[in-house]
This record gives sequence, structure tokens and C-alpha cells, in this order.
Amino acid sequence: MKYQPFDKAQGEPVIGLEIHAALKTKTKMFCDSLNDPDEKRANWNVCPICTGHPGTLPVINEEAVRKVILTGLALNCSIAHDTFFERKNYFYPDLPKGYQISQYQKPLCQEGYLQLTPDNQQLKKIRITRIHLEEDAGRLQHLPAQAGDPAGDFSLVDYNRAGVPLMELVTEPDFTNGKDVRAFAEEYQLILKYIGASDADMEKGLMRVEVNISLTNADGSYGTKVEIKNLNSIAAAAASVDYEMVRQKELIENGGKVIAETRGWDENKKQTFSQRTKEEAHDYRYFPEPDLPPLHFESTDIENIKSTLPELPQQRRERFKKQYGLPLADIETFTANESLGNYFEHVASELLLFDPALMHKGGASKPGPEHEARILKLAANYIITELQKHRIASGSEDTKITPESFADLVVRIFHKQISSSGAQAVLEEMFKTGASPEQIIKEKNLGQVSDSNALDLIVEAVILANPKPVEDYKKGKEASLKFLIGMAMRESKGKGNPQVLEEIIRRKLGN
Ligand code: ADP
Ligand code: MG
Repeated sequence: MKYQPFDKAQGEPVIGLEIHAALKTKTKMFCDSLNDPDEKRANWNVCPICTGHPGTLPVINEEAVRKVILTGLALNCSIAHDTFFERKNYFYPDLPKGYQISQYQKPLCQEGYLQLTPDNQQLKKIRITRIHLEEDAGRLQHLPAQAGDPAGDFSLVDYNRAGVPLMELVTEPDFTNGKDVRAFAEEYQLILKYIGASDADMEKGLMRVEVNISLTNADGSYGTKVEIKNLNSIAAAAASVDYEMVRQKELIENGGKVIAETRGWDENKKQTFSQRTKEEAHDYRYFPEPDLPPLHFESTDIENIKSTLPELPQQRRERFKKQYGLPLADIETFTANESLGNYFEHVASELLLFDPALMHKGGASKPGPEHEARILKLAANYIITELQKHRIASGSEDTKITPESFADLVVRIFHKQISSSGAQAVLEEMFKTGASPEQIIKEKNLGQVSDSNALDLIVEAVILANPKPVEDYKKGKEASLKFLIGMAMRESKGKGNPQVLEEIIRRKLGN
């Protein structure tokens, strides 16, 4: 593969990513052992094929192939019409066959790109070199010597992960800083979740990010690159880039030389450290896998897969902006948290039914887009802050609150039929019991009082009890009005409508 250098000055960072993602499939890549990343019992999901017994034959998992192609299409790649698997030969105890079935010469997907808007304004295009399909290795666990055991430290091997379908994405070295690395990795992770290709959970090892980084030479050509592995989060990947840029720069400035090596990331010290140098290139003796047939795809096959592409994160952002006019931060929350965004969409469609003003859309009393935008924003706020609060506290994504009930509550808040503290109490109860706002407001007597007669009496009492602020207000001190409204609110136990109270006070004090 050839990279076309941009015009670069000396010492500029050149960064490329390699990202592995475990595919979400029912069974493994070449056998029918279950692909269950949550299986805790070691060596439970294994069979003669994924443990490399002689004489066994692999069978290609079609669903895995489909998911890699879907990923390639989401990232604007061209999909190979003809491709095949190859053996990558090396020895390691987590690789029972002594080779990994992978793709080398002809990846399923090539030459794509992903556009990023890291600060929501500047568009950056990161080119994708390739995405190929392979199988994962097992897991090794290194343990200290048991007391009294002369054999010393030991290792355990778990083959549950051996043979799990794994997709590797390689980018061109188009990054120049940690922030963009983070933006890319997050967007890729989100895309994988949206299309159902992978759960892409880094903590569970379902997505693994490796960073390649160098600084340009004096003539602008690429310098020697360092590879950073064992990054346990996207934040760590970004931080390692920013650290490594400085380390290499200082090394070169002090007359040193960057050596080709693999470095690890120390999360406590926030530093990279040398793990092993790459003196000689590995010879993996790649050759075509003789036990598997080559793959062939007609254009219609690829079109069929393309037609199953769901809405992608960026399309969703644009739609949410157009359809609901929400602020960027809200849109981002509803894009990153798909289920929360879906809930918002249900509530939004119910709002149109619940809010009488919105019902007359297009009619004489058309509320106008401004009214609609305000109530949608209010709904978004209550979902993002209040509903999320209860969802997080309860540790469950589920909620008993139907979108209808939620919309009903939002309309009541919007039309000041309930105070915000009252609304919070109602929401809490709704979350617990799933009851409708109407029921709860009645039961708990939480409705906001707008009835002037009742409020009149309250205001009378407040005026009598606070002669000084009343005098001050009459002399033109507006702050005293706020005080009086506050007192009246308290008197009404938070149920008075502050606007109605203000009107009554102004009227009674002759203004
Ligand atoms: P290797 O053979 O060491 O695996 P590759 O050519 O396959 O190297 O590239 C692996 C990754 O390294 C890619 O993401 C690529 O963009 C990036 N890369 C290649 N050359 C450089 C360089 N000089 N500096 C930084 N990253 C690079
Ligand atoms: Mg490589």
C-alpha cells in the first residue's frame, strides 16, 4: 500500500490507526461454536475446528462477511467482487492452529473515507486504506506462582475467543493530533453499533485501537513510526498520541533518533513505554487458505447488502437538526445514545397530539415554528436531564413512562400548569409506577394554581405581612417585586403560577 504524503514541513505529526472490532454474530467465523463475549466459563464455547484439531475443515460464516461489507459501505469503501482468505503463520499459545485465517492481498473493503466534524465545524476527511476479515485468537492469563509450586509463574489459556470473527480497519496516516484520533474512533464505534456490526465495547476488548505515529523528516518525508498498543480506551488512544508527539519531538531536538518499536501505554503515568523493538520484519508466510473457497460477489449482492444500511450517525444528526431544530449538544446526546434519541422521537410525535396549539398546524391559529421549537427543546431537556437521571439511578435503560405520558407532562410544564419542582416530583412518580401525569397530579395535588380568587387571597396576605418591600416596590425597586412573588409562591406551597401572581401583585399595588 502506498501513502501519498501531503505537503508537510519538518517535524509534523503523521498518524494512522489500526482498529480491530469483534463482529456481533451468533457463531464463530469458521465453526458453529457460539460467539459469546460474555461467557465466563473458560473453554466453554470451543469445538475441534476453533481449537485447531487436525483434519477439521472451516466453513465461512456468511453473516460475518455481510457485516464487514456493510461496514465498508458505511465508510464509503469499494467492495471487492472477488476475494479470498489467507493463512498468516506464526506460533503463539493463544493460536491453536499455528496460523490465523486472515486476508492480506485482497481485503473485502478498500479505499474508503470517513468525514469528521471534531469541533462541529471543521470538516476533516480521513481516508480508509482497507477493512478485512479475520479470526481472533484466544486469551492468555498470566498468573504468579502458587505458594510452594516449584514450576513458578504460569499462564492459562481460554479459547472461547479463538475463531471469533474479527474485522480490522486500517486508515491512511491522515491524523495530526489526538483530538481527531478520538473523533474518528468514537464515530467508527458509533457506526458499528448503529449497523449492528459490533458492540465495539473497548472495556470488553470488543474494539481495540492501535496507533501508529511518526514525525516528518527534514525533507517532509515520513519518519520512522512507533506503534502504540494495549490502549484500553479511546481517551487513552488520544492521550497517547499527544504524549508521543512531544516525546518524539524532544528526542529529535536533543539529537536522538526515533526507533521503530511497539510501545505500551501506562494509564497511571499517562506515558508510553517501550515494549519491544521491531528489528526485523515478521515473515508470516502468507498463502491462500486451501480449505476455503474464494468469495465472489455480484454487484446485485453488494446492492442488496447496501439496501439494509440503516440511518447512520451523521445522517441522524442532520435529520435531528432539520426536523426538530435542537441545539447541537442535545443532538449529539441523542445521536450517541440511540435509545434515548428514539424515545425523544416518540415523545416529539406525541407532543403534536397533546399540545392543542400544535394540533392546529397549518390552520388559522398556527403556533409557528418558534412555539414548536420551544416545546421540543423543553421535551429534550426533560429527557436528557430528568429522565436520564432516573434511568441512570435505576441502572436500567427501560422506563415505564410511555411517550404519551411524557409528552402529556411536557405540555403541562410548557403551559405552566405545573411548576418545575412539581414536574420533577410527578416525573419521579411516573418513573416508579408508570402512572399518567394526570393521575399523579390529582393524587398528589400538584397542579399549579392559576385560579385568581385563590391567588388573590394569598397576595393579600403577603402584602400585609411585608410592608417594607411593598413600600420599596412602590418607590420603583423592581427587585422587591421578585421578593414578593417569591413569598407568594412559598405561601402557595409552590403551586401558584408565578406569572399570574406577578399580575395580581402589580394590579394590587397600583401598577
Ligand atoms: P506495518 O507494515 O508496520 O503494519 P502499514 O503500512 O501496514 O505498516 O501501516 C499500518 C498503519 O500505520 C496504517 O494505519 C498507516 O496509516 C500507518 N502508517 C504508515 N506509515 C506511517 C508513518 N510513517 N507514520 C505514522 N503512521 C504510519
Ligand atoms: Mg500492517
